Amino acid sequence: MSKKIVIVGAGESGTGAALLAKVKGFDVFVSDQGTIKDKYKDELQEKGIAFEEGTHSLEKILAADLIIKSPGIPDKTEIIKNAKAKSIEVIDELEFGFRHLTGKVIAITGTNGKTTTTLLTYHLMQTAGFNVALAGNVGESLARKIATGPHDWYVIEISSFQLDGTKEFKPEIGILTNITPDHLDRYDYKMENYINSKFQLVRSMAQGGYFIYYADDAVIKFEVDKRSITPVKIPVSLKNKLCKIHFDGTRMNFQFDAESFSIAQAETTLKGPHNLINTMAAVAAVYKAGAKVESIKAGLKTFVNAPHRLESVGIIKGVEFVNDSKATNIDSVVYALGSYTQPLIWIAGGIDKGNDYNIIKADVAQKVKTLICLGKDNEKLKKFFGDVVAEIKETQTVKELVRMSLESAKQGDVVLLSPACASFDLFKNYEDRGNQFREAVLELKKEVEGVNA
Ligand code: ADP
Repeated sequence: MSKKIVIVGAGESGTGAALLAKVKGFDVFVSDQGTIKDKYKDELQEKGIAFEEGTHSLEKILAADLIIKSPGIPDKTEIIKNAKAKSIEVIDELEFGFRHLTGKVIAITGTNGKTTTTLLTYHLMQTAGFNVALAGNVGESLARKIATGPHDWYVIEISSFQLDGTKEFKPEIGILTNITPDHLDRYDYKMENYINSKFQLVRSMAQGGYFIYYADDAVIKFEVDKRSITPVKIPVSLKNKLCKIHFDGTRMNFQFDAESFSIAQAETTLKGPHNLINTMAAVAAVYKAGAKVESIKAGLKTFVNAPHRLESVGIIKGVEFVNDSKATNIDSVVYALGSYTQPLIWIAGGIDKGNDYNIIKADVAQKVKTLICLGKDNEKLKKFFGDVVAEIKETQTVKELVRMSLESAKQGDVVLLSPACASFDLFKNYEDRGNQFREAVLELKKEVEGVNA
């Protein structure tokens, strides 16, 4: 009789795991306590995979030889506790995928910068001509990618929740961009637990592997010095010239055994100090995977990042409009402000999650000539920046916002939507806010320049 696999949670990872389990000949059952999205239900039905929704039938679930759970389901959940009490092995989709994978893995984690670094690494691997798949938190699940055909390399974005469900997961190359407090509710409010979660990235890595990390991050540095780490360590730094991969204030320098080379950020499509870190990490990974320097340089020139991250959406009368709607906290705004030397029209506001604006006060005073508040309640922003910025305006509609921005701007200025706040007061989510902004800019551009311009 074939081994019974039960999959708990039928989102992208659960459905991917079900598809792979079916391809591998297991007896598969999927259980989701909520409603399963139609597109996933259709896939399960099409492949003849049994499933239930709106409930968990404990008896059926506990009859499993192996349970694969969605990373969103914590170990504390009743059903998982029950399974563990019965000594049923419980893993996540990522671990399951890894057990059936034949290629090699570049895995990327960190509190911030995962998506950018993953997409860039994938793009550079593609440009270099590798047979490579993109998987994980960004895009499709690893299991689905494996189910649909083999690849030589997999570039995977991994959250800490996903790492928690791994055991033998062993990337050839691991990247850790940074560690700052996040998701602590899932980690008993202990930073140590969150750090341990992130370091599971290197737990099973072998001697021939490479661990690339941001060495200026105090938490990472402390942990790397303290822990015994098997793979070759490749620190990258924005300031330490002793690191073989570092930024010297002008260029990113890469010193490998066989060759050395350097790249200026102007030769890439990404802006800002945070993206120097992401670029150095991605380049190191792809080089170690075997890419040639020339192809890496070519790839850096053609990379298009995911939207809403310092995305240049249009230029009107010499004024550049930038959508950084993903910047929902103050840390992200620090990097956004640090990415420009031009005078800024800064758009901020929304739902403030307890921002300490002192962190950006000096930068705002130096660069921002107009602040436009885009929120229902703008009192905190107005009060804090009233003495710092020459002009403060308010609006609650995106159409008016872009007009106001253009009115305040001169040729050469940058209009920067980098709100430091969540968007739920006026928008569905940060994507909705960014999309509306982009559309309004393009509409205004058409109007100002004329249809045939
Ligand atoms: P994630 O997938 O980890 O959320 P993204 O690449 O989507 O990361 O970037 C999200 C935001 O995090 C960006 O808008 C930027 O402000 C910030 N960010 C990106 N890379 C870094 C980095 N290396 N260090 C710190 N912040 C970063």
